[in-house]
Amino acid sequence: MAGLQLLDDYDVLLADLDGTVFRGGEPVEGAHEALDGRQVVYITNNASRSPVQVADHLNSLGFSAEASQVLTSAQAGCALANDILSEQGVPLEGRRAYVVGAESFRGLARDAGFTVVDSADGADGEEGAPHVVLHGHSPDNGWPTLSEAALCIQRGAIYVASNMDTTLPSERGFLVGNGSLVAAVVSATGVTPRSAGKPLPEMFRRAVAESGATRPLAVGDRLDTDIAGGNAAGLDSLCVLTGVATHTELLGTSYRPTFIAANLRDHLDGWSAEAVAEGDGVQVIVHAGETGDVEVMAAEAVAVAAPVVWAELDAGRDLQDIAVVAADGDHAAASSLEAWR
Ligand SMILES: [Mg+2]
Repeated sequence: MAGLQLLDDYDVLLADLDGTVFRGGEPVEGAHEALDGRQVVYITNNASRSPVQVADHLNSLGFSAEASQVLTSAQAGCALANDILSEQGVPLEGRRAYVVGAESFRGLARDAGFTVVDSADGADGEEGAPHVVLHGHSPDNGWPTLSEAALCIQRGAIYVASNMDTTLPSERGFLVGNGSLVAAVVSATGVTPRSAGKPLPEMFRRAVAESGATRPLAVGDRLDTDIAGGNAAGLDSLCVLTGVATHTELLGTSYRPTFIAANLRDHLDGWSAEAVAEGDGVQVIVHAGETGDVEVMAAEAVAVAAPVVWAELDAGRDLQDIAVVAADGDHAAASSLEAWR
């Protein structure tokens, strides 16, 4: 099994964390080998940890990271809230925020100049109502804080979410993500928040500027955030199949990555795919190359099949009229397709 050498063509990796580098408290397979010795900026939509805490977590899992290498959507959310309030002419002095989220998000809000208040009534009566609700993930978020946020919004606070990810990958499966709790507040208020997290390109642009990257690569496990955000920032992107994105999802996505791989380390040479007309539809026939672990083979199959499928979609064909199949008698290709999620 060959290494994933495409990483060598880039000078800085802009890497997602959950589902890409680790799942909860476990490093993702291949991440250590791939990231060791490379320049990496970690860009995460998860607002539950401060950059210092994220770096500590990475170091506890055997990675080498400093807080300055971490950009979180909580930081991006504070910056966006300040931008919106400036547009609205709210003076910089005395901006008040109600934070739904982790204590570290409150700290970042204070660092960004906000007075953090703990109710819709503000810290000091009617004059102290918050200007903004900042909403990020915390395992402790619950009905009281969500309801308080709803009251703030009803009283005129703008609503900024760190990110809108509906799920949060863990070593046990997909947990409830920030976007799912945001949905509760949206349901109660009718107000949809602005968000600064991925898929918006701001965090990628900031990472490129601060790292001095000349050839950055966006890396992640989620199409509608990591890959969409990398694409929006005009960067090449790599989707790894260690988290949210599935093989079948990749075929029909409008957020097409430049590259697809099983993980950050593994690659198999010699796989190919071709389109062959079949009745009213088309078959995309996968030919296996080098063989190895079935998960890596499954990723190689979609890595070669997806661009062929995308070309057919761009030519006006419907996804339901495209079948991805193994070449006749090609057992490795057949077992790779059976392993698709
Ligand atoms: Mg992720």
